[in-house]
Amino acid sequence: MNRHLIWFRNDLRTIDNSALFMACQDPDVQVMALYFITPQQWQQHHVAGCRVEFELNTLRQLSLDLQQLGIPLTVLTTANFDSQITDLATFCQQQQITDVFYNKQYEVNEKHRDMEAEQKLQRQKIDCHAFDDQCVVAPRKILTQDGRFYSVFTPFKKAWLNHTQLYGFKVLPAPTVKTHKLNLQPSNIPHHIAGFTSHIDLSYWPAGEHAALQRLTNFCQSDIDNYKALRDFPASNSTSQLSPYLAIGAISARQCYQAALNRAHSQGYNQGIEHWISELVWREFYKHILIGFDYVSKHKAFKQETDALPWRHDKDDFERWCQGKTGFPLVDAAMRQLNTIGWMHNRLRMVAAMFLTKDLFIDWRWGERYFMEHLIDGDLAANNGGWQWSASTGNDAAPYFRIFNPTRQSEKFDPEGDFIRQYLPELAHLDKHTIHEPYANNQQHLFLDYPPPMVNHRQATQDTVKHFQQLKHN
Ligand code: FAD
Repeated sequence: MNRHLIWFRNDLRTIDNSALFMACQDPDVQVMALYFITPQQWQQHHVAGCRVEFELNTLRQLSLDLQQLGIPLTVLTTANFDSQITDLATFCQQQQITDVFYNKQYEVNEKHRDMEAEQKLQRQKIDCHAFDDQCVVAPRKILTQDGRFYSVFTPFKKAWLNHTQLYGFKVLPAPTVKTHKLNLQPSNIPHHIAGFTSHIDLSYWPAGEHAALQRLTNFCQSDIDNYKALRDFPASNSTSQLSPYLAIGAISARQCYQAALNRAHSQGYNQGIEHWISELVWREFYKHILIGFDYVSKHKAFKQETDALPWRHDKDDFERWCQGKTGFPLVDAAMRQLNTIGWMHNRLRMVAAMFLTKDLFIDWRWGERYFMEHLIDGDLAANNGGWQWSASTGNDAAPYFRIFNPTRQSEKFDPEGDFIRQYLPELAHLDKHTIHEPYANNQQHLFLDYPPPMVNHRQATQDTVKHFQQLKHN
């Protein structure tokens, strides 16, 4: 009897999982599942402790769900991708696997690993079946008329919408229960991995695909309608907060898109739905960039000429930004949100990233790494895309001269100061006018426990603009 292996990676769910579904298609085969914990590799990729623990919690749920389907999940620990290939081959040999099924990952190291794993398995006469599963539209399906990768979002989105309308897409069900069960005990899954301690309260992020689906259902039942109006106001808590689940594949992008379309069918299409779908397309756009321009995942700027910018590498200034002690309340509240719950609101990611790169002129790669090390939804494509957008080094980036003023952003998007109060208790007593700029009007005497602004925004950003202008003249 044939034995299929589903090799889980960042697709930790049973519903709408292409590789799992296909591995289980034939009722006469036995199916088992495998997942690798790879601490050394994760360290190299700066994976956050909270993301690792969230993933372990999700794996425990997944193992139970797979057990119901008659599929035992084995979890092995191995140092890195190289040893993963060897351990995979050995496991397949020991378990007499005939076919390996997996969903593709698009990052450079992951792609190399998969290529080498396939070659090794083929030498063992094991067939590999790889699927594009991370996006609604598989990356190479959308190209410009002359066959190139899009580098600007708006035409990409147009092509993406056309493609989904023309070809549709399918949300796959969970596979049916296997009748030929294997006599193999699922692995015990650790709660912690040395070197990846989570410093956040993970009860904020209930794990597993059921929790993810519940979050999606709740969001699409009402919040989605007001998404356009409220999405930029961090105190309103009005975005889906599905990013941690999407990052590890506890839910699929297709499920999200389908849920949004279902809402449109039942309640009528509105701007909230339209905008939320647009964000799903941004997610796909950055994955597509990662494939089409893979040098961006090697610490290179998308606009390569911007690698000549004389970015600062000042550790003390960087540390103040990391700790949320810049003296700009919205930036500081944003950084403390990240340090507290492992997640940051999108508007604030842009504000914090722009402050680091345009006010402090610190290398965007430092910020990108800090985010990766602390985000529960850390995702190379979206993080790199977001940082390069903010630093004006990326594709379709914010123009270098259009720089957010952190105080004006604060007045506009946290007008009552509620978000700032939540994360900066030392400013909680201030009224909604003072809280955005506590040291304005020389009111220093009010504050003992909050630093004055570490830079003069206007002066600092003028200097940054000059650096970009010089680049143009060189
Ligand atoms: P919603 O507003 O509900 O959007 C739904 C989904 O769409 C999100 O879950 C996410 O998967 C996707 N999405 C939304 N906005 C974007 C965007 N601008 N780019 C790509 N995908 C998007 N997102 C990550 O998932 N991981 C990251 O590591 C990451 N790093 C970022 C770094 C910077 C500097 C910036 C500016 C943005 C970054 N983003 C990242 C994108 C975005 O901020 C988050 O996806 C979003 O805040 C997640 O919240 P949500 O789930 O409530 O999103």
